[in-house]
Amino acid sequence: MEVREAAVLLRARGVRVTAPRLAVLGALHDLPHTDVDTLTQAVVGRLGSLSKQAVYDILDAFVQAGLARRIQPAGGPARFETRTGDNHHHLVCRACGRTVDVDCAVGAAPCLEPSTDEAFVVDEAEVTFWGLCPTCQCAPQRLANQ
Ligand SMILES: [Zn+2]
Ligand SMILES: [Zn+2]
Repeated sequence: MEVREAAVLLRARGVRVTAPRLAVLGALHDLPHTDVDTLTQAVVGRLGSLSKQAVYDILDAFVQAGLARRIQPAGGPARFETRTGDNHHHLVCRACGRTVDVDCAVGAAPCLEPSTDEAFVVDEAEVTFWGLCPTCQCAPQRLANQ
């Protein structure tokens, strides 16, 4: 993502433009579903230095501003992505953690009508499909979560 493009996105969400924020947003756009460790390495490669805590704080601000979405597949670290607000789902590999977007089958979110809603007002459904990615199907001994 171009720096200019990232700056436009930040301003549009009312987030003050700083070099670390531009770097985090750019890195996150290039590396969707990234955990904080990987993202910090990518940002340090661009900026020279930035602490992991600073990256956490920036990601928190992005999530609150609607610039990023946080997902946390069971048994793994939180991952972040810039694709927000479309109620898309994820395929996650049990072995290597590879995470892939899955679009809803139709335009409107299809999973918002549970068989019982216990009088909750439901506005989001998060579906995680667990399995093995093509690479890991060839290496079953690497299964991590069993
Ligand atoms: Zn895999
Ligand atoms: Zn996603």
